[in-house]
Amino acid sequence: MTRFLFFILIASVLSTAHAAVRVVTSLPDLADFAQQIGGDRVKVDFIVKGNQNPHFVEVKPSYMMKLKSADIFFVIGMELELWAPQLVDGSRNPNLDVVDLSKGVQRMEVPAAVNASLGDVHRFGNPHYWLDPRNVRVIAGEMIEALAKASPGDEAFFRSNADAYLKKLDGKIAEWQAQMKPFTGTKILTFHKSWSYFANWLGLVIAGQVEPLPGIAPTPSHTSDLIRLCRQGNIKAIIVEPFYDMSAPEQIARSTSAKVLQLPTSVGGVDEAKDYLSLMDYNISTLAAALK
Ligand SMILES: [Zn+2]
Repeated sequence: MTRFLFFILIASVLSTAHAAVRVVTSLPDLADFAQQIGGDRVKVDFIVKGNQNPHFVEVKPSYMMKLKSADIFFVIGMELELWAPQLVDGSRNPNLDVVDLSKGVQRMEVPAAVNASLGDVHRFGNPHYWLDPRNVRVIAGEMIEALAKASPGDEAFFRSNADAYLKKLDGKIAEWQAQMKPFTGTKILTFHKSWSYFANWLGLVIAGQVEPLPGIAPTPSHTSDLIRLCRQGNIKAIIVEPFYDMSAPEQIARSTSAKVLQLPTSVGGVDEAKDYLSLMDYNISTLAAALK
């Protein structure tokens, strides 16, 4: 009996010491990174599905419930998740650590003055930095810090997991760069400004967007301007996320030699994108095949 009680005591001490850190992330990509770093010491969930537009997410009680029982909420920041403050308020969780992962990122397209007109959803600069895989190192750094704060005894474990993952990622980055090298300087259009960091990394030139402004639906006059631009400028492809309306991109493609490519910006955006590495594999191989 004594031995039995002793066993129970030890088991309960062990389970308290190793209670998993409860993590919620805005995007599924961030959930993948948190899982890679946290291993079995975290329990990870996310809010936005990969086939949803991350800028516009309906605030639901079920999302607030996810945050109610969480320790950490990782967000991209730069106002990608305009809907997040409402979820955090609604969660009524005073202990929730909301971690903005953009702090150490070299930001692109930051306006000199904040432009709140016309519904521009990139008022504080372009938030789509996770599509440059070199930024995963910055994201991982912030994640380690927050996870170690929540579970100080596991810091070395988090660091060694992150190191192993980043080493694997570095190998893939070299592979992806080699695959895209023949297309340096190639001109493309994108539907939304989701691909600025991606294009900057690979030396692609984004000649324009189908949206007149980030978050604003295409207009006939802007679409006509893009058709003219494509005819003059030898533009090879129009990248469109699976959740956008295809009619304006298809109209441009019909009148020019540009091909429309549906590429996901997040894990789960297409069936092939099961995690961040396969998301990038899919995007790079689809793009390289189309540009050939
Ligand atoms: Zn955006």
